Amino acid sequence: VIEIGQPEHSAVTTCAYCGVGCSFKAEMRGEEIVRMMPYKDGKANRGHSCVKGRFAYGYATHKERILKPMIRESINDPWREVSWDEAFGFAAAKFKGIQQKYGRDSVGGITSSRCTNEETYLVQKLIRAGFGNNNVDTCARVCHSPTGYGLATTFGTSAGTQDFDSVEDSDVMVVIGANPAAAHPVFASRMKKRLRQGAKLIVIDPRRTEMVESPHMNALHLPLLPGTNVAVLTALAHVIVTEGLVNEAFVRERCDWDEFQDWAEFVSLPKHSPEATAIMTGVNPKDLREAARIYATGGNGAIYYGLGVTEHSQGSTTVIAIANLAMATGNIGRPGVGVNPLRGQNNVQGSCDMGSFPHELPGYRHISGDAVRELFEGAWKVKLNAEPGLRIPNMFDAAIEGTFMGLYVQGEDILQSDPNTSHVVQALSSMECVIVHDLFLNETANYAHVFLPGSTFLEKDGTFTNAERRIQRVRKVMTPRNGMADWEVTIALAKAMGFEMKYNHPSEIMDEIAALTPTFTGVSYAKLDELGSVQWPCNEKAPEGTPVMHMDGFVRGKGKFVLTEYIATDERTGPRFPLLLTTGRILSQYNVGAQTRRTENVVWHSEDRLEMHPHDAEQRGVRDGDWVRLASRAGETTLRALITDRVAPGVVYTTFHHPDTQANVITTEFSDWATNCPEYKVTAVQISPSNGP
Ligand code: SF4
Repeated sequence: VIEIGQPEHSAVTTCAYCGVGCSFKAEMRGEEIVRMMPYKDGKANRGHSCVKGRFAYGYATHKERILKPMIRESINDPWREVSWDEAFGFAAAKFKGIQQKYGRDSVGGITSSRCTNEETYLVQKLIRAGFGNNNVDTCARVCHSPTGYGLATTFGTSAGTQDFDSVEDSDVMVVIGANPAAAHPVFASRMKKRLRQGAKLIVIDPRRTEMVESPHMNALHLPLLPGTNVAVLTALAHVIVTEGLVNEAFVRERCDWDEFQDWAEFVSLPKHSPEATAIMTGVNPKDLREAARIYATGGNGAIYYGLGVTEHSQGSTTVIAIANLAMATGNIGRPGVGVNPLRGQNNVQGSCDMGSFPHELPGYRHISGDAVRELFEGAWKVKLNAEPGLRIPNMFDAAIEGTFMGLYVQGEDILQSDPNTSHVVQALSSMECVIVHDLFLNETANYAHVFLPGSTFLEKDGTFTNAERRIQRVRKVMTPRNGMADWEVTIALAKAMGFEMKYNHPSEIMDEIAALTPTFTGVSYAKLDELGSVQWPCNEKAPEGTPVMHMDGFVRGKGKFVLTEYIATDERTGPRFPLLLTTGRILSQYNVGAQTRRTENVVWHSEDRLEMHPHDAEQRGVRDGDWVRLASRAGETTLRALITDRVAPGVVYTTFHHPDTQANVITTEFSDWATNCPEYKVTAVQISPSNGP
């Protein structure tokens, strides 16, 4: 704790980093933060926090924050500080000019999973109602869009099914493609507590993660080769079906029986057995059979997964395969069981809920539905376009083709976080007006014409929705240092563009969301103040929210089994690129580090290292700490080696928190077949000694 004086006032707010959504008491002295104290009544964290949230205030007051709007005619010109009014006028004239010249669909925007529900709602409203098209997408495109597709297909809605509290009722936890100890540490502590009480842990991950290595966990680790999730999950299903471990009563009552039978026949094929898939997946068949038996028969089984599931060419198929397993074993619809995406960003769930996808209005309702469109048309007093808009990668392609010329980016550094950096550069350079709305002059801003300063979570009111669908208040404790909270910026920008949105406070935006979204009809700031938080659906049927979903039936009616044929990624190893690279995070840093590198957390992280097995290192004459060149078909970068047997021979691993690492220079162009989520987690690479950058 860094003490800078005694507090004079405080407010309870929500951490703006990961999807756990820890509550903090921000203690203030005037406009200065004295300290951030984990809030004991916070329902997601119960008085705990991690080192990221504790020091999160650091970036709010960091000297590199941009506090004045800036504009420039060309990306080759220097930035010019201007008034807010001039910046809005400039941006509006550019966007209007673009639409006149290239048509209504030539502009669009990207919402931020870091901003509040109310702020993302406003951006999608501006685009749909103000721009007159559906060219809105979210940074969730590059992380959890397969969750949206996979869970909506099988269960009927795209959200985690279980509350954090009910981990205390779990007997078996399966963690796939996630490292909660590093990325969701406060929830990981609750998992570990239950594991110490005797619950069993199965970890499916190419790397021996901190969850596996934590003492007393007795984890059964299935160290699969990157890119083989679907083969492993189908092999687990094979064991469950062929050994008679299906919960037939549950399936008959709750799922489509005919579809189940087709699925059972499919997974029973000999080619899906653990033995038949062992060479392909790298997983010991004995361990895989044991894992299947533990999950199916060990009591309440809960599955937690992360980006190691979604960021693959079969990301959506993998989410579906997970849902199939949960339905087949009856591990869904009561406390202690479920399918739970561990959301990386604080408000990924919320930004998706708020209609940030080009095909869905708030509440996951397809834009082509006449009734729902009419509902929004009545409220917004506009005619809405029924055609789904462009996804982020389609926006980039259209920009290069010369048909998409204006982009408003809310709180997201797409140049650092999207794949195939050179393609993104080409797309941004092709546009006539890029508006970046952010805290810092990020990499994307190098290609922007308008910079609108953003505000931090400490400077505004609103709500975030965490990984367990928990809607929590964000409370303003500081006057916005830039002069305007993000929701006010979007409203002013919309007005300059000729589309008036009138709200005096974010609570009024939430009231509008509640009026238009069936899963939110019971949500209001008054209720959040009274109860502390609520988990959606929160409506007449569940006035205090819904901790566990699908209790009496799936949202879609009958649970849907879908066949999950394993199709190997097009990214292949070969003589030139014989190793497979995968990526992850460390505890003290968050994503590309734009915030955490501007806090006290810098003391725990100075660089990203490349983990490689001693066998691979020796073959290449690499010693611990040496500089190495990491090259793929797409590009190359340089970083230092860390020799460890946490990774298997043939697999290497790095984090991507430091900008110098340039992880996305080397990632491929492949993406999930259903959602275009980039395949960040599998890249064929070669490593050779280097003298350094
Ligand atoms: Fe909690 Fe996540 Fe924030 Fe850490 S980063 S304090 S786990 S919300």
